[in-house]
Amino acid sequence: MLDSLKSLLQDQVRDLYSAESQMVKAIPKLAKAATNKTLRAALLAHLEQTKGHVERLVQVAELLDTKPGGKKCQATQGLVAEAAEVLEEEGEDSVIDAALIAAAVRVEHYEIAGYGSAVAMAGQLGEQRVLKLLQKTLDEEFEAEEKLSGLLMGEVLPAAGGADLVPVVKVKTKGRVVARR
Ligand code: ZN
Ligand code: FE
Ligand code: FE
Repeated sequence: MLDSLKSLLQDQVRDLYSAESQMVKAIPKLAKAATNKTLRAALLAHLEQTKGHVERLVQVAELLDTKPGGKKCQATQGLVAEAAEVLEEEGEDSVIDAALIAAAVRVEHYEIAGYGSAVAMAGQLGEQRVLKLLQKTLDEEFEAEEKLSGLLMGEVLPAAGGADLVPVVKVKTKGRVVARR
């Protein structure tokens, strides 16, 4: 029941916990399918971070007097299903790598949206410790997205061939929600 801002934040935390838990299972499969060594390493590094995100959400849930389980993030389930389609594909290594990155950054953007909202709610509730924990994860999701996008443009797409035009648009997503008190 969403009868208060706190109950909404508890619900958001459960969704994030489900999302992160699903990614702990999914990322190793993506890493295994990657050919580019930097990409594989980046995915495995983010796997370790993602395990930390799960732990943080357990802490956050406790600080918010709730348990993290009991909810399924449908969006992540869909994003993982799309990523799994790539795993079924055969083809040019660098093109498969590009497809893996395109799938992985979708997840990062979804997580960034979720943590961004949750950080704002924690700030509104004056939940300072919760805010800090969620902000740390949000920062890591940003870094992961930037690293993967940078790898796509810097290495993977050039390796896939084509005209090699320098991309004109640099997507800038870095942002920070600041608590008011
Ligand atoms: Zn995460
Ligand atoms: Fe969700
Ligand atoms: Fe992530």
